[in-house]
Amino acid sequence: MVNLRSPREIALMRRAGLVVWGAHQLAASMVRPGVTTGEIDAAVDSFFAAHGAVALFKGVPGKVPFPAACCISVNDEVVHGIPGPRVLRSGDVVSIDTGCSVGGWCGDSAVTHPVGEVSPEVRRLLDCTSGVLALAIQLMATRSRWSDVATEMAKFVRDYGFAVVENFVGHGIGRSMHEDPQVPNFCTPAFRKNHDFDLEPGLVIAVEPMVNMGSKKVRALPDHWTQSTIDGMPSAHFEHTVAITDGGPVVLTAQPGAGEEIGASGSAA
Ligand code: MG
Ligand code: MG
Repeated sequence: MVNLRSPREIALMRRAGLVVWGAHQLAASMVRPGVTTGEIDAAVDSFFAAHGAVALFKGVPGKVPFPAACCISVNDEVVHGIPGPRVLRSGDVVSIDTGCSVGGWCGDSAVTHPVGEVSPEVRRLLDCTSGVLALAIQLMATRSRWSDVATEMAKFVRDYGFAVVENFVGHGIGRSMHEDPQVPNFCTPAFRKNHDFDLEPGLVIAVEPMVNMGSKKVRALPDHWTQSTIDGMPSAHFEHTVAITDGGPVVLTAQPGAGEEIGASGSAA
C-alpha cells in the first residue's frame, strides 16, 4: 500500500531532507586522497546528532546490524559498504549514502564523488548516473505511471553503454526509511502488470539509480553488507528523496531555498 502525504507532512519531511543535504556537503568537503571512509562516517554521525536528527542506517537489521550512519562504497562496491579504515586514493570513486529522521520523518540521499583525478570513462559513469537521476525527477512532472519513467531511465543508461543494477531498487519513504512502493530503475512486463504505481500528488519516493560500468550483476561480500560488482568494474549511485506536489516534483534532499535553514527547529510547519 502506498502512503500519500499531505503538504504539511511533506514540509516535515523537508526538514529531514535539509539535514541530509547538509550532511552530504560536509562529507563532500572531506573527500580527498588520504581520508578514511570511517572519518567521513564519523563526521556525518556527529552532524546528525548536532542537528537533532536520528541516523537511520545504524542498526538496520541484517545478519549483523548495520554499524554506521553512512553506507560508503568504493569503486567496484555498488551499495551498502561499511565505513572503516579504508583510505581513499586518487582515481577512486566513492559513493556516500546516508539518511536521517527529524521529528519522526525520514530523508535519504546518495552521491558518488570522484577522488582526485579519475579516468574519463569513470567520469562518464558519474555523468550517466547523476544524469539518469535528474532525468527521472524531470519525467516525474509529466508521466503518470512509474513504469514510463523507469523505461526511459533504463534506455538512458543503455545508450551510455552501461548497465542498471537490478538487484536493488528505490523505495517509498515517510515515517520509515523503507516503505512501499518499490521503485526500480528499469521496467519489466511483470512490474508494469503487478507493481506499477501512479505518480500523483502526495507520493514520496527515494529514487536511487545504481549504474555499473560492466555487468549489472552484483555479489555480497563476506561482511554481510557490501555489494560489489561481479566483474570488479566500477559502479556509481545517486539518490534523492522526491515528493510529488500539486506544483510538480520537489526534491526534499536538495539544497536550501530562500528562507530555509538546516536544523530541527527550522521554519517548516
Ligand atoms: Mg540511501
Ligand atoms: Mg534509499
